[in-house]
Amino acid sequence: MSALGVVLLVAVLAALAGLAYYAYVVKPLRRIEAAALALARGDFSARTETPTGPLRGVAESLNATAASVASAVAAASQERGRLAAALNSSVDAFAALDRDGRVLFANVALEQLFSRRADEVVGQPFVWLLADERVMEAFRASRDTGARRESLIERPGKQYLQVVTTPIANGGEWAVLAVFHDLTDVKRTEEVRRDFVANVSHELRTPLAGIKSVVETLADGAINDPAVAADFLKRADADVDRLVQMVEELLELSRIESGDIPLALAPTDVASLLASTVERMQPQAERRNQTLRLDASDLGMAELDGARIERAVLNLVQNAIKFTPEGGSVTVTAERTPEAIVIRVSDTGSGIDPDDLPRIFERFYKADQSRASGGSGLGLALVRHAVESHGGTVQAESRLGEGSTFTLTIPVRR
Ligand code: ADP
Repeated sequence: MSALGVVLLVAVLAALAGLAYYAYVVKPLRRIEAAALALARGDFSARTETPTGPLRGVAESLNATAASVASAVAAASQERGRLAAALNSSVDAFAALDRDGRVLFANVALEQLFSRRADEVVGQPFVWLLADERVMEAFRASRDTGARRESLIERPGKQYLQVVTTPIANGGEWAVLAVFHDLTDVKRTEEVRRDFVANVSHELRTPLAGIKSVVETLADGAINDPAVAADFLKRADADVDRLVQMVEELLELSRIESGDIPLALAPTDVASLLASTVERMQPQAERRNQTLRLDASDLGMAELDGARIERAVLNLVQNAIKFTPEGGSVTVTAERTPEAIVIRVSDTGSGIDPDDLPRIFERFYKADQSRASGGSGLGLALVRHAVESHGGTVQAESRLGEGSTFTLTIPVRR
């Protein structure tokens, strides 16, 4: 072979070797590099083709590494998602704070409690959310001494919050957890119970004092004067009646409130129920020269606890008679709408002060002017319960000096 031939052969071989080097080394290496860079950017789905040649093994190991990183990252983010879901489904609001008192995490309940979105709160100092020195003091104590602290704070609108701060062990940047329990309802219940006891004692005291003074007067000699003695006994009798009525009303109220007596629903002829109630009250109205009328259209049958509704209407009529002067009138009307039976008891009596009106359905509430009326203030609370236990409502409208109208709306099915 000539020298030229040798040179040409070498050149061709060199060119072939170069091509092979490019195809088997350079090109796969570039692909591997591109895939590695994509992985480094966080694209865990990046893979490289597996070439034939010396780099096959490297490409395969890179793909295998990428696959296991991708599954580890997916598992971690699923875990985080679960944790966030669990924290967010807690009914108690809480926030994780760093050592400087900044909020690092706030759950959904906290967003609702403070009416602030988590992204407005996270990263901000906790005091911006709740400026209360006791809570900050508790936060510092938990952070510095590892103590668990509880503080009860009152927020505007009579909202009571119990704040519990605890250190978070091994929480990294999460230094302290602040948990909030809304105790508003508990506090309100306590208040209602306290008022209730005070009211019962107050209401019992008046008739008891009356009976006591009667007994003392009789013991002091009045017993020997039959006319005076009879008069005093009549007074004691009225006081005893008042006590008995009150105790009965209290018992009924507590039974209804504890849910002990279920509704005895039965098909009820509402018009005749109203007629008998009005008839029962007729003598009382007559004694006060009042006209008591019933104006009921065809009401048909309705599924009701007749006894309970009858007592409610009776109560309203009794009140109407009691708070209407002689010669006035009391009217009971009733109609049936597609959804409900609507019963109204109107009178031409004293009316109710607009300041008292929103409160008359509370237990023991009596408008001042009627303190002397002898009632217990429980009647309307019972009326409200009776109607609400049927899913209905009771409303009162009144003009002072002109009269009042109480409206019972009791939903019924056709
Ligand atoms: P009471 O035993 O005092 O009648 P209620 O609960 O039945 O208790 O009524 C509460 C208060 O509401 C009464 O004390 C009275 O001030 C007022 N009230 C109720 N019904 C009438 C009415 N028809 N007219 C005027 N005031 C009324």
